[in-house]
Amino acid sequence: MQSLATQRCFNHANREAVARCPSCGQTFCRECITEHDDRVICAACLRKFARLPLLRRRGFAGVIRCGECLLGLLAAWFFFYLIGEILLALPSSFHEAALWQSN
Ligand SMILES: [Zn+2]
Ligand SMILES: [Zn+2]
Repeated sequence: MQSLATQRCFNHANREAVARCPSCGQTFCRECITEHDDRVICAACLRKFARLPLLRRRGFAGVIRCGECLLGLLAAWFFFYLIGEILLALPSSFHEAALWQSN
């Protein structure tokens, strides 16, 4: 394995390599390599990896939205159920006791 000092950047032939990308194995200069999740990775690989979790995140968001929709329906059902229960619990005299009859 050659030392990094003798290696050149994969993108910049005139620049000294400072790190090797663990994903593609190419050597890169300080400008081309970035830190991602506590490890150095080249810009090309970062872009490649960044695309995957984005899709996963979108799918996950869809699951959350579906859950929220169900939760909303459940909340609405519970709300109307509660109103029904309250109306049923009220004494029938409440509905019949009109003011004109109280005299
Ligand atoms: Zn790479
Ligand atoms: Zn470079």
